[in-house]
Amino acid sequence: MKYCNRCVMPDTKPDLFIDEEGVCNACRSFEQREVVDWNVRREELTKILDKYRSKNGTNWDCIIPVSGGKDRYCVCCNWG
Ligand SMILES: [Zn+2]
Repeated sequence: MKYCNRCVMPDTKPDLFIDEEGVCNACRSFEQREVVDWNVRREELTKILDKYRSKNGTNWDCIIPVSGGKDRYCVCCNWG
């Protein structure tokens, strides 16, 4: 079993891959946050929200972020 040099997560964790420098994909994604175009991400999020937003404004809109357990997963960074 290998461990990430930075966060010590083991490579037995599902969807975690350790590169040739011994750093996992989650840590690499963390590095990428500086180069992410957050304005584009905001537009993508707004489109998703528009799809589910109350059409006539008669109901409250509510977002429920969910995390935890083995089913959590982040599509932007593959961290779960
Ligand atoms: Zn790591």
